[in-house]
Amino acid sequence: MAEQNDSIRTLAGVGQKKAEMFARLGVKTLGDLLRLYPRDYEDRTKLVTIEELDIDAPACFVASLVTNPQTHTIPKEGGRTLEVTKFTVADDTARLSLTFFNQGYAAGRLQRGETYCFYGALADDSRPAMINPLFEPLGKSGELTRRIMPIYPLTAGLTNKAVMQNVALAFSKCGEVSETLPETLLAQYDLPAADTALHQIHTPSSQEDLARARRRLIFEEFFVFSAALSLLRAQRTQKTCTAYTQTELGDFYAALPFTLTAAQQRAIDDILSDFKKGIPMSRLVQGDVGSGKTMVAAAAAVAAARNGRQTAFMAPTEILAQQHFALLESLLTPLGVRCALLTGSLKPDVKAQLRKEIAQGEYDLVLGTHALLTDATTFSSLGLVITDEQHRFGVNQRAKLSAKGEEAHLLIMSATPIPRTLALIMYGDLDISVIDELPPGRQSIDTFLVDERYRKRLNDFIRKQTAANHQCFIVCPAVEEDELQSLKSAEQWAQVLQTQVFPNLRVSLLHGRMKGTEKEAVMAAFAAHEADILVATTVIEVGVDVPNATLIIIENADRFGLSQLHQLRGRVGRGREKSYCILVSDNKNSDTLRRLKALCATNDGFRLSEEDLALRGPGDFFGSRQHGLPTFRIGNLAQNLALLQQAQEAAAAAIAAGELSPALLHAIRGLLENADFALN
Ligand code: ADP
Ligand code: MG
Repeated sequence: MAEQNDSIRTLAGVGQKKAEMFARLGVKTLGDLLRLYPRDYEDRTKLVTIEELDIDAPACFVASLVTNPQTHTIPKEGGRTLEVTKFTVADDTARLSLTFFNQGYAAGRLQRGETYCFYGALADDSRPAMINPLFEPLGKSGELTRRIMPIYPLTAGLTNKAVMQNVALAFSKCGEVSETLPETLLAQYDLPAADTALHQIHTPSSQEDLARARRRLIFEEFFVFSAALSLLRAQRTQKTCTAYTQTELGDFYAALPFTLTAAQQRAIDDILSDFKKGIPMSRLVQGDVGSGKTMVAAAAAVAAARNGRQTAFMAPTEILAQQHFALLESLLTPLGVRCALLTGSLKPDVKAQLRKEIAQGEYDLVLGTHALLTDATTFSSLGLVITDEQHRFGVNQRAKLSAKGEEAHLLIMSATPIPRTLALIMYGDLDISVIDELPPGRQSIDTFLVDERYRKRLNDFIRKQTAANHQCFIVCPAVEEDELQSLKSAEQWAQVLQTQVFPNLRVSLLHGRMKGTEKEAVMAAFAAHEADILVATTVIEVGVDVPNATLIIIENADRFGLSQLHQLRGRVGRGREKSYCILVSDNKNSDTLRRLKALCATNDGFRLSEEDLALRGPGDFFGSRQHGLPTFRIGNLAQNLALLQQAQEAAAAAIAAGELSPALLHAIRGLLENADFALN
């Protein structure tokens, strides 16, 4: 018997070329192939009479040939020909004319007087007719007709039929697929066995069996995921590190220009109490944009420094790292915390020198991008790793950070509001502190949705805001003009605004294709109010702090995910003045409108995420992949939330009872593998 780990090359007919095609679908082994789930199904089980056939609704029907197939050839341009075969079939209810184009071979197998099972829909014609139906002899039906057909993800050169055949071959080679989940769980959650579920997902015998198979496979996927997180967590909590004894931060609090909110203080207290335990911390701080996460991170870094430990503080962009550095250096230097900024745009010799000093322990707090932990930087006594705006970080990266950071504490800060139920599972390897309160005096950001007809009023509003000495962000979905000119490009729009619309205002431009130093210069200038309007792409999405900006206009707003729009909106409303967010879109799609209007209705990111999850699932709110939530093969976070909860409970119980089979452990390792992370 073949093993699931055997290469698909062991299948007859799979040579190097086919193997490469399969590899593009992530299929290398027989086991991978068995878990190449269909992306869809075509239900061909419905059987009707000819009379019941309909246009656009393919169905099966059983009928006999009442005429001989007639084939004739029609010449076409370029010397090619079109071969047309026609004949008539009938059942007890009616007659039907069938036409095959260029299918002489298929049609040649049909014989007058014989009965076949056909599958097709009526052509939109004045007389009942059908073109190129599928068919098989009645006695042998079940391969093409009267079944639920799997539809696989494909790649160039690989046909659905070829995948079906190879899946069948893999099944016969591997024999019965052994069970991975504990038997008790199958009974408890009414799940079919692995072997049954895998067969049914590829070749379902009914919609009910397919649904049961899906449920089982989704459960298993979630189970593996939850178990991986639990093991990650267990592994971390088994480690030890020096307990911090110096956690008195009175001078830090006194140096702040404001009083921390109760929620900020709670998050800091959570962290300080973690520090005293002598176990490496893994904590997620979730707080909506503007909730003041930076100060929580700063407090943690000060505490680490007081205990002789260095902190690596990583931001997703250089601009943000730069901003954090500017803020924290001036705040913390007087407290004796030595700060450094290490970014890719430093000159090589400056960078080398800085690295040397970091390695010698001359800095307590090092700010940089996420490259900080992956590049050649070494620390003399790294005690704390902070990642800001963690929503671009998935489970694999977390595992990697844990592994790299060794005994260092891990603090992850995220502004992506995730419903609590989901967060508890998705971040099962972490402890969570939620900052559910904004600093006092924050006003809600009035949000409006407008279309092009409002352009003039919009421009007047920009003039009004800038005349009051405030600044304005304008976000465009593209950097350069696109071919269709349907999207506003930052470059072009900035130019139009400067030369034609606001010649008396200072318009500047920021986008991701600019060099790091250039971007920083533009941001710094804007923050210093050397420009009135900043036209930008989504590079400003994360963290950038310009309290004097009171208006953000988002062009082609329908192009952005809800989460991203909420993040962008958080760029304003950071000062004392009333702030506004204006979404510009001509898109009248009802789903789009509903999404954009949801944003107008509330400023609360957590509520938005919860509403959105309930309405549509994470597909929209967590639209782009930047959310950092894992993408599952078959499970869907929103649709299968209840199953996710069950799987998590089951995984926790199975781990506690020591019931993880070698196959499950193998799957769990696979999940964390991309991070070069080895479970002990
Ligand atoms: P986040 O990273 O959570 O989006 P920031 O840390 O950038 O938010 O803080 C947003 C703004 O609020 C900053 O200008 C910061 O100085 C200010 N801020 C933070 N905490 C407080 C507080 N307790 N009271 C008043 N202002 C605060
Ligand atoms: Mg922030």
